[in-house]
Amino acid sequence: MRYFQLIAAQSGPIRRSCRLRYLVLGGLLALGSRPAPTQAQAQAGPSVSAAVATLLRPAAVFDGQEMHAGWVVLVENDKITAAGPAAQVVSPPSARTLELPGLTLLPGLIEGHSHLLLHPYNETQWDDQVLLESQALRVARATVHAQRTLLAGFTTIRDLGTEGAGFADVGIKQAINQGIIPGPRLLVVTRALVATGSYGPKLSVDENVPQGAQEADGVDGIIRAVREQIGKGADIIKVYADYRWGPDGSAQPTFSQEELTLIVQTARSTGRGVVAHASTPEGMRRAILAGVETIEHGDGGTPEIFALMKKKGVALCPTVAASDAVAQYRGWHKGTDPTPLRIQQKHQSMAAALKAGVTLAQGGDVGVFPHGDNAREAELLVRDYGLTPLQVLRQATSGNAQIFHLADRGRVAPGLLADLVAVVGDPTQDVAALRQVQMVMKGGVLYRQP
Ligand SMILES: [Zn+2]
Repeated sequence: MRYFQLIAAQSGPIRRSCRLRYLVLGGLLALGSRPAPTQAQAQAGPSVSAAVATLLRPAAVFDGQEMHAGWVVLVENDKITAAGPAAQVVSPPSARTLELPGLTLLPGLIEGHSHLLLHPYNETQWDDQVLLESQALRVARATVHAQRTLLAGFTTIRDLGTEGAGFADVGIKQAINQGIIPGPRLLVVTRALVATGSYGPKLSVDENVPQGAQEADGVDGIIRAVREQIGKGADIIKVYADYRWGPDGSAQPTFSQEELTLIVQTARSTGRGVVAHASTPEGMRRAILAGVETIEHGDGGTPEIFALMKKKGVALCPTVAASDAVAQYRGWHKGTDPTPLRIQQKHQSMAAALKAGVTLAQGGDVGVFPHGDNAREAELLVRDYGLTPLQVLRQATSGNAQIFHLADRGRVAPGLLADLVAVVGDPTQDVAALRQVQMVMKGGVLYRQP
């Protein structure tokens, strides 16, 4: 039903303000002879949707692994039903064709690390966002962030923490799923877990100020917090395995090995995975041994730690775009100034991770920099860290889907969700093509078209 419900959301200010047309495929049919289904018709259900078929005819298809020139893709309702050489794909007589000349069609991109409820730190410092901005203000921003993310071609995002906005990510996800606002499919963590005293903001010692994540400690406290987040709608549990609370302000481990293991066990028994923010060798080591699925950041990773990650099958989401953005916010004039120490360290740890063969998830920590600018991570991985466009394209599609257990997306293949994006040129040759998004489809619904 979701895609018909979207019809109701397509009229009015949203459509005018962004000059984009949100069309269901039924709407596209209206470009021919048949009127778009009305909401009343939509409520009639499958008999209407059965007629909705569209043949997408791009210059080439990147299927999540390889490029295929001359392929076409058939979409029926919210799924891909065929993909292959034009001569081999038989489309129903009722199908309409969407010509995409000069474009490469690829699976909807998957963002591995975002915070829809944050906006760039050079606009407002993180502390002030957490302490001074109301939840209503933050949610209002987040709805715009969700829209920008989707229109940039990211049809799924792993949103790793509301950073003080409670469980608001759950409601945003519901609003998207109910067709109230346009946005990507969300995997949410709600509040994330931190050890008492380790996180921020920190003001006077006399004041207990709201924190950017949920404090929990010890056996009872941790089990309760994990279950509470799950009960409120967390798809994944996020834990901060280290943070900047050393005597000198350096990052140091937070939770004990026992606590981290308990977090993973508690989440896993409900079928959920755990991701860990970690940048110190010891924080990473504990998180890996506890059984987390991905390590976020990993700046201080050593060859030994990356060997352990490889052995345990833990993926690294390096968030190079956030490191790059923060360094520039702190005054680094990239291209002119010498490379800051933290960025040099990032290069060293990334080189070590790649050498160890660690699987990379792709996620930029969007929110630190603008939502909709998600492609920045892929660009930097190619331009500054030596990956190939093909590698980063695989990461952002089939790779992330596999790491995040999303078997229904990340590739162009029959039976998968019709989450598809078309870009100008060949993104496997030039990563900048990811900036040239001309078409965005999510679940068979067109949100952007050439
Ligand atoms: Zn983050």
